[in-house]
Amino acid sequence: MSQSFQDSPKFLTERLLRDGYGGTLAEYRAAGGYEQWRRAVTSLQPAEIIDLVKDSGLRGRGGAGFPTGLKWSFMPKDSGKPHYLLVNSDESEPGTFKDRLLLEKDPHLVLEGAAISAFAIGARTIYIYVRGEYVYPRECLDRAIQEAYEAGLLGQKLFGTDWSLDIYTHPGAGAYICGEETALMESLEGKRGHPRPKPPFPAGYGAWGQPTTINNVETVANARPILEHGAGAFRSVGTKNSPGTILVGVSGHVNRPGVYELPMGVPVRTVVDQVCGGMRNGKALKAFYVGGSSTGLLPAKDADVTLDHDAVRERGVMLGTAGLIVMDEDTSIIRATRVLADFYDHETCGQCSQCRVGMEWSYQIIRRIEEGRGHPSDLKTFADLIQNFSGGKTICAFADGAAMPFKTALLHFREEWEEAIRRANPQMADSPSEEPQTAGT
Ligand code: SF4
Repeated sequence: MSQSFQDSPKFLTERLLRDGYGGTLAEYRAAGGYEQWRRAVTSLQPAEIIDLVKDSGLRGRGGAGFPTGLKWSFMPKDSGKPHYLLVNSDESEPGTFKDRLLLEKDPHLVLEGAAISAFAIGARTIYIYVRGEYVYPRECLDRAIQEAYEAGLLGQKLFGTDWSLDIYTHPGAGAYICGEETALMESLEGKRGHPRPKPPFPAGYGAWGQPTTINNVETVANARPILEHGAGAFRSVGTKNSPGTILVGVSGHVNRPGVYELPMGVPVRTVVDQVCGGMRNGKALKAFYVGGSSTGLLPAKDADVTLDHDAVRERGVMLGTAGLIVMDEDTSIIRATRVLADFYDHETCGQCSQCRVGMEWSYQIIRRIEEGRGHPSDLKTFADLIQNFSGGKTICAFADGAAMPFKTALLHFREEWEEAIRRANPQMADSPSEEPQTAGT
């Protein structure tokens, strides 16, 4: 089932690998673009598309990996209410930049996939919520939307049917938390981007209280190739529980960082050594964040792990958005963790006291250790703190996401932390700290 990355089909990026492809409507249509959208509206039923996507095994590419067809099936049938599709383009996770490639280079693929997805869930309006800093990607999308309207691919009574579809882009204002689906809806409604408690879930009570589905850019983009090539073709790539290809965004100390479409199940070692041309300056690999910072990090000895949901979970981390951050032997894990703690401290929305206070204290403790002022009790305090704000105790998953890089940095690089504290407290001599050996995961 899994195959080599060289032989794997490029469901999403095949056009981008051609010389001179500019992503215009004419170029996209010359490559069969919008034919699956036409086919969906003129000859398929929404339930058929949902079944096809279920059969393909497509899982969300926005981090959680929830089965897409199943998510679509939660939308009510014949509710008599307006339905909405929100395409989450807030892409703010540290280390994640793969949706940007599609938005800039092949925006019509995103629009066609979103249109098919909207048809499947009975939505006649799509809002594409674009990260505030993504000014150019949103311009690319807006240009493509205008082209599609002018060509009669969006708007009223499409392809001689009664089906209508409108697409709007909406800029975020620079808050990481607005990538959380309920915060995104609040922000879209013009309110402060605070996550909502769940239930109710968006399929029952979403944007403006109406049935809503939120999908990631890459997730909806897969709708076209699944309709075009069939569920079997999609399933023939990747692993049993993680079928298809995935856009892997590689950053850090490799020779060729970038976004690569790879089969699910490719080993990290292959990505680093073969896809990305090896480590920069011939350095050794020290550690890597698997799928964006909130998924946690693994040490070099785990580089044989394959990029699929099951394999990474067995190592105590998550696949997330496949934003692989590669760190070489010269990297300070303490500094890297402090940088992330600063980020999470800045981005917590502040509704839950465990999260709000926990982020600030985490940052203070890590900074103290990094600056050579660590106290012998700091690691225990830090581990207790993490315990208090993680484990599903908060309104949204932000706090658990922030806990992942903290927990895994303590778990896999305990000696580095202890050494920093020993240096700050020479009276400790060689005795290890009195705290437990791991923070647990
Ligand atoms: Fe806000 Fe953090 Fe609570 Fe999420 S967990 S709602 S980010 S305070």
